Amino acid sequence: MTHIVVLGSTNMDLVTYVEKAPQRGETVTGREFRTISGGKGANQAIAAARAGATVSMIGAVGNDAFGTRLRSTLEHSGVDTDLLRTVEGPSGTAHIVVDDKGGNSIVVIPGANGTVDHLVPGDDSLIASADALLLQLEIPLAAVLAGARAARAHGIRTILTPAPARPLPPELLAATDLLVPNEHEATTLTGRTDPAAAAAALLDQVPEVVVTLGAQGSLYAARGAEPLTVPAPQVTAVDSTGAGDTFVGALAVALTEGRPMRSALAWAGAAAALSVQRPGASASMPCRPEIEAQFA
Ligand code: ADP
Repeated sequence: MTHIVVLGSTNMDLVTYVEKAPQRGETVTGREFRTISGGKGANQAIAAARAGATVSMIGAVGNDAFGTRLRSTLEHSGVDTDLLRTVEGPSGTAHIVVDDKGGNSIVVIPGANGTVDHLVPGDDSLIASADALLLQLEIPLAAVLAGARAARAHGIRTILTPAPARPLPPELLAATDLLVPNEHEATTLTGRTDPAAAAAALLDQVPEVVVTLGAQGSLYAARGAEPLTVPAPQVTAVDSTGAGDTFVGALAVALTEGRPMRSALAWAGAAAALSVQRPGASASMPCRPEIEAQFA
């Protein structure tokens, strides 16, 4: 098994389902409330573990009940949490209101994730022992940059998901090996709406880019090579939450196992296609035998 380290966020998603979201000053009665373990870091860690890697998570949870649950959700999926800190104060939370038309509004409170602004002893040697480091943008940029630089210093492949979408400092892109934006994030980073044009523009700053295209699959671009588009399996999607994280986790597993890029993209696409056919984010992520069956 290959070893993947994720440096990133854990969040408890507090999801309220309501016919119509309240306007300012209004109170409405909702239909249902759920707490769902999430955070892009934790989701990618679970996706990679289910896809068959040994996975370690660096980050932080609060010393509250959510923190206990976030940690145990990771451990139940086989993710090593030895370097997931428990810090004083609340865990990260995402307050999500979903209306009957499928629209949503979200308030994220970083909580413990906000304390992950530097590497601590042990992080560097864990990163050095990895086959790949997965990064996203739900923890302070200082830590994302420190992680990318540590990986670069040890010759470890860095895969960055630039979400939530925001402009990035050039020094972070300079320490990134593979950037995996969705179409919206690719546009935010480049100002280009065409994914191929956005990917081409990003190659000025990173050597390899994969733009995920939802139901259309994914597009790969690398310096000095012809771009590659890999279609997604045609499936009936019921919930695409976490599709991107499933894709990245599985892609990291495939690449660290030595699959060529086209095959790795198809394998990750198979994993993500399975996840969109089931409700939930990490709950919908497939295990390796399911991915192999879908891929075949
Ligand atoms: P994000 O979830 O970050 O917005 P995308 O919507 O691009 O990212 O989805 C990520 C990947 O999930 C896609 O590249 C594709 O492989 C897969 N995917 C998403 N939606 C579908 C779908 N409706 N059918 C099949 N695969 C899908």
